[in-house]
Amino acid sequence: MAAVVVQKYGGTSVGDAEKIRRAAERVATTRRGGAAVVVVVSAMGDATDRLIELAESVTAAPDPRELDMLLSTGELVSCALMAMALRDIGEEAVSMSGAQAGIRTDAAHGRASIIGFDPAPVRRALDAGRIVIVAGFQGVTEDSDVTTLGRGGSDTTAVALAAALEAERCEVYTDVDGIYTADPRVVPDARKLARIGCEEMLELASYGAKMHPRSIELAAWRNVPILVASSAGGVPGTLIHDAETEAESMEVANKVRGVTYERGVARITLRAVPDRPGVAAAVFQPLAEANVSVDTIVQNASGERLTDLSFTVARADLRAALEVTRRVSESVGAQQCVSNDGLGQVSIVGAGMQNAPGVAALMFSALADAGVNIEMITTSQIRITCIVDEPKVDAAVRALHAAFELADD
Ligand code: ASP
Ligand code: MG
Repeated sequence: MAAVVVQKYGGTSVGDAEKIRRAAERVATTRRGGAAVVVVVSAMGDATDRLIELAESVTAAPDPRELDMLLSTGELVSCALMAMALRDIGEEAVSMSGAQAGIRTDAAHGRASIIGFDPAPVRRALDAGRIVIVAGFQGVTEDSDVTTLGRGGSDTTAVALAAALEAERCEVYTDVDGIYTADPRVVPDARKLARIGCEEMLELASYGAKMHPRSIELAAWRNVPILVASSAGGVPGTLIHDAETEAESMEVANKVRGVTYERGVARITLRAVPDRPGVAAAVFQPLAEANVSVDTIVQNASGERLTDLSFTVARADLRAALEVTRRVSESVGAQQCVSNDGLGQVSIVGAGMQNAPGVAALMFSALADAGVNIEMITTSQIRITCIVDEPKVDAAVRALHAAFELADD
């Protein structure tokens, strides 16, 4: 059988009839080149946002099952239109909902995980010479309830299909032409990366750049190369794939690959907490129960058997987090519970960083030179993050981009 290529078109790439026709041209060109093509589409433009608004105009608390039923229609529209556009230019094409395509998920409405895929329906259509267009972002449970995979989930549909169909690659067409060393809106000389590893991409994704994180995890696990490129065409995109050869890994060794940032970070500090076992558990357990996701956590050692415990949350979650923390703060005997809602964070990311001494020192001195005070620091093996004042975020990103010479090839 011919090699399978999966092409995913994001919302802006199928935003109107003209764009759908243009995407169909690209699909047809790939098909005419001899590949078996599976297309995954997102809903047109901001259709998903419109559907959510519609639901909220009917009820303040839409039922999760019914909301998924509603949201899944966005992708059905673009999916059917894409099949029509392809037929119009003489291609054999068939559209399929997630359920029809055999995408099975758990029952976690609104954030379902794909737990199985029966490739038979898609395979049959491909074998019959058709282009198969699959509605992204959706699946079906054992009980035949329609589910959605969480915002941006079409990326994950595409990679799951590419993995199961043993596709050559998964091409993701979007409104940007790849992954950059930093947000070009903040850093004018940010450079497009020809290639980036999955782990690095995951760190970048969770700090701003846009791919559904599950899609990258899946690509890493199943070794699916993802090419992110502009649907407008012309320029080469970024290949998201782990290095497989010595030469490939040399290319990115010992290097910071990108700078990312986030605004809207808030910090809560419990001051002078008695330093004894169980305190952290007493604080973070109820936060988890209240569904507040905690990011950076720092605990300071202290001499007097007292300690300060600080952690960050998204600013949007601050109120809920404070409610919980104030309640437990008394029970653990903290002297004070204070918060700051005007923070942001900047991170440097690079898989080669762990073997390169001096990276952290360079980061901190670059921030110091730019007059940026560091409020908190956290690290992972391939990332160093500094929490800073929100108004300093842009200056910090630019300083780091320059210090690590990311504009140079
Ligand atoms: N249409 C969905 C969303 O807007 C899924 C996607 O675009 O991937 O989140
Ligand atoms: Mg998307």
